[in-house]
Amino acid sequence: MLRASISSKDFSSRQLPCACGRLDSDGEPFRVAHVCTEANCSVHTRSPFICDHCYDSEDTPGHSKLKRIANYFRELSEQWSKLQENEKTLAKEVLQMYLPQQAIVELLEREIKLQTAVAFNGRLISEEMAKFQEFHREFQERYAKIEECMREDQTTKIWEEEAKFNEYTDKLTNRFGHLKTLVTVETIFTNYKDFIEHARIPEDSSVRRALFSFKERLIEQNARESMTPIDDPQTQIPEIASIRAELSNTSVPLRGLLSYLGGLHGAANFINNSLDAKSAQDSLQRTLAELTSHLHTLQGTLSDCTRQISILKEENENLKQQVSGARETAKIQEQLAAMESTMRQKDAQIRQQFMAAQDQLEQACNQRISEVNNRVSEVESRMMGGYI
Ligand SMILES: [Zn+2]
Ligand SMILES: [Zn+2]
Repeated sequence: MLRASISSKDFSSRQLPCACGRLDSDGEPFRVAHVCTEANCSVHTRSPFICDHCYDSEDTPGHSKLKRIANYFRELSEQWSKLQENEKTLAKEVLQMYLPQQAIVELLEREIKLQTAVAFNGRLISEEMAKFQEFHREFQERYAKIEECMREDQTTKIWEEEAKFNEYTDKLTNRFGHLKTLVTVETIFTNYKDFIEHARIPEDSSVRRALFSFKERLIEQNARESMTPIDDPQTQIPEIASIRAELSNTSVPLRGLLSYLGGLHGAANFINNSLDAKSAQDSLQRTLAELTSHLHTLQGTLSDCTRQISILKEENENLKQQVSGARETAKIQEQLAAMESTMRQKDAQIRQQFMAAQDQLEQACNQRISEVNNRVSEVESRMMGGYI
């Protein structure tokens, strides 16, 4: 992409120092500002790029090939951009046409090698396309670098690529320019015409369709040609003309039919394959029956297994319940043991309390008894005293 404007100060500072090596008052080198565009110039032998100082000190009257470097940079950038546009357009057009035809082109080129009795004087389109695709890749890579130089105002670097620029321009026009007309369906048909009639039938259905459409076109063309009166004195004789017409009426469709089958060899293969297909079909049916019976056996085994699995599942459920029941029992036993221990403690306490209470009661009884005894003795002695 070209920039809309070139800021002169930034642009100048990005140019290379002049080969004269002069420095300005700030100690900065003078940068190139002019370029000589004369081929093999006798004045600018060291470098076509010079600074303002060299430009002013030059005494070269009549030397009109000097240009300001900013203008030169713009020209170079524009010509590269234009070349890139042209290359991109050609690649897009050519590839769009070629890619859908690539498989049929490759098939017909294989036929050239197989049908050795037929001479080939056409062009190997797939090879030419491979070369163009390689060129396209290389050009795109190179242009990406040029674009970087354009962004960084590196005039001299773009200038150094001049030889490449000329080479690419030449190749684009003289070497690959014709591809646009070479990869049309019409040209491909004409280019490989001699190898279409006996071309073997491919397995890939899309290539087969493309080949059949070429064969159809060829048959039509042959039929048309056979109708064309031949400028031959013999055709003036009605008998010969009639035999020739009859022959043509028979041979044209026959050739067409053979062509669809891939020639005599292809027709033989076709018949063989059809017969093979019949025996293969019988064998397939047998295999299918065996497989079906095997499948039934497998289905029986499968349902047995399913039943066993469901029994196992049930057993598993029961076990689970038992385990959980056992867990419950253990818990209750634990609680019971705890309760028993509590009860034992309580029992001991109660026993102690009971014994303590018994002791107290006994003491109280004994005391009461001794009190009553004392009282009785007292009463007895009083009574005795009364009698005395
Ligand atoms: Zn010059
Ligand atoms: Zn200079």
